[in-house]
Amino acid sequence: MGYQSYEKMDLQGSVLRIEKSSIYDGDGLRTVVFLKGCPLRCRWCSTPESHQKGIQTTLDGSITYGAVMTVEEVMAEVRKDIPFYFHSGGGMTVSGGEILAQPEFTYYLVSRACWEGIDTCIETSFYGEWSKIEPILKNTNTAFVDLKLMDTKAHMKYTGVPNDIILHNIRKAGAEKSGMKLIIRRPLIPGVNDSQTDLEQLGQFLMGLPGVDCLQLLPYHRLGTDTYRKLGLTYQLPDVKTPSKEYMEWCMSITNKYIKTII
Ligand code: SF4
Repeated sequence: MGYQSYEKMDLQGSVLRIEKSSIYDGDGLRTVVFLKGCPLRCRWCSTPESHQKGIQTTLDGSITYGAVMTVEEVMAEVRKDIPFYFHSGGGMTVSGGEILAQPEFTYYLVSRACWEGIDTCIETSFYGEWSKIEPILKNTNTAFVDLKLMDTKAHMKYTGVPNDIILHNIRKAGAEKSGMKLIIRRPLIPGVNDSQTDLEQLGQFLMGLPGVDCLQLLPYHRLGTDTYRKLGLTYQLPDVKTPSKEYMEWCMSITNKYIKTII
C-alpha cells in the first residue's frame, strides 16, 4: 500500500464515537475508537448507525451519529487515558462499523499509537483486501476477527457478503503473524450460526491454523434495536432471544474439542 508511518496526522476519518474505559475490547482499560462505514449488513447488527460512512441524523433530527476527526484529534483523546493504560495494561482499540472501510485512517491511528508506545487492538470482520490489512496488522498487538458463518451461502444470506475473502484473510493472518495475538470471535445467533455442524466446521477450520490463539463465543444481544426505529430502519431478527449461559457452555464444549474456546 506504500503508507509511510508517522505522517498524515491531519488525515480525516469518519468517527462514530470514542468510548472510554471499556473492559470488553482487549486487555485492561481500553479507549475504543468506533469508525463509521461497513460493507456488511448482518441481520443482528446492534449498531445500524455505523453502517454509512457519512454523518447521519435520526428521522426527527434529534441525534447526530458521527463526526469528522483527524488522526491527531483522535490521538489527543486517546492520550488523555494513558494513565489508565499504565495501571491496567490497556490501550487503544479501533473498531467499527468495519475498520477496513477506512483502511488508511485505521493504519495511521494504529501506527501512530504504536510509535507513542500505546498498546493497539483492532476489531474487524476481515472483509477487505489483504494488501490493506497487512500494514494495519504490523502495528497491532491484538486482532479480534469475527467469523460469523462457515457456509458461504448462509454468510451471504445473513450478512450480505460471501465469506471466501474473510477465510482467506484469516488463513493469511494466522500463517504470517509474528508477535500479534489473533482471536477469532463468533457472535452466536440462535437459529442462524449455532448448529452443531457449523460449530464443528468452525472448530475444524481454526484447528488447522496454529497462528490463531483462541476462539471467543459471544452471546447474541438485542442492544441497538431502538436505533433502527430512530433511523427509520427495520430490525430483521425481532424474535431471537439471548442464549443462556448453559447454552453458551454447550456450544463451547463443541468448539473446545478443536481449539481453546472462551466465552
Ligand atoms: S460487521 Fe459489525 S458493524 Fe458491520 S453489519 Fe456486521 S455487526 Fe454490524
